[in-house]
Amino acid sequence: MPADRRAERQGALRAALAAEGLDALLVTHLPNVRYLTGFTGSAALLLVHAQSTVLVTDFRYAVQAPEEAGSAADVEVDQKSVWDRLGRVLAGLPQGTVGIEAHSVTVKDAERIAGLTRSRVVPAADHVERLRAVKSPEEVAAIRNAAELAQEALGEVLATIRVGQSEREIGATLEAALRRRGSEWHPFPTIVASGPRSALPHARTSARPVDRGDWLLLDFGAQVDGYCADLTRTVVVGAPADGRQRAIYDLVRCAQGRALQHLRPGMTGREGDALAREVIAGRGFGEAFGHSLGHGLGLEVHEAPRLAPTSEVPIPQGAVVTVEPGVYFAGWGGVRLEDDLFLGADGPELLSNGRTELVELV
Ligand code: ZN
Ligand code: ZN
Repeated sequence: MPADRRAERQGALRAALAAEGLDALLVTHLPNVRYLTGFTGSAALLLVHAQSTVLVTDFRYAVQAPEEAGSAADVEVDQKSVWDRLGRVLAGLPQGTVGIEAHSVTVKDAERIAGLTRSRVVPAADHVERLRAVKSPEEVAAIRNAAELAQEALGEVLATIRVGQSEREIGATLEAALRRRGSEWHPFPTIVASGPRSALPHARTSARPVDRGDWLLLDFGAQVDGYCADLTRTVVVGAPADGRQRAIYDLVRCAQGRALQHLRPGMTGREGDALAREVIAGRGFGEAFGHSLGHGLGLEVHEAPRLAPTSEVPIPQGAVVTVEPGVYFAGWGGVRLEDDLFLGADGPELLSNGRTELVELV
């Protein structure tokens, strides 16, 4: 049994709320609900107060919610309206200030919540996300397991790729391999982009058949115990790489290698991003690297911290981030390499295999 961190997490949250002058936080972002209580359902209003943690859900989760939450929350199941039930829970608390998760609550729901209570309802900072950015050993292990599973699936699929197969066919084989090996779900739509389409950083996998000498970019994830891995590899299909392909590939690989080696907690997101960006810009291709270097990984595939030119937020010790530089030329194609890195006390530690030597499927 992995350590149960839920009480510890709720304790840290309560301390953060008290420091901000909040008497309670209404947690509505589902990954945050899961992090604090273990509940994985799709309907949840979680009220974390100094003295109590109450999870309101509906009939569909009458069995699942108490089972998953255990002693981490008092579960209240409402047959009719979770909002009415939340109103009754709020009415039972002393009046005060209740924070809501500004990034997850709609304007409509914020008005509804304000109408349920005589307490003051205020937008709160990303308190739970900040806690989630620092991973426990069990969380790191789950991400490592997800990355291993993803790599095994990729290895299996690369051996079957042939000129003439469509991106969708390759994507289907990859997704099946991920599921067969135990991935709980695809954390994001799998990207299989070939030839010039590899220049679209968020390409939709299409019916295009892979041609001889094409780039084939695969960006895909796996999920284990709720935790996500996120990998990208770019390979050449049907022929050895030509000179330009090799030069661009080596550049991206060199940029990624520098970031993987030198990223440290305490750097800002901008400084982390610059480790790779300087290498690419130094060769005159800065314009062709049009996205940020990486993002946090955990219960969500995109979470704090961000490695981006616009982020002045320091990367906390204990973060898990992706490192994914890319260089793209419209009409020609693109190369992106993505690995997952843990930034612990003992320096950066790869959770994926970092095996990025150029693969030519000939
Ligand atoms: Zn990715
Ligand atoms: Zn990513």
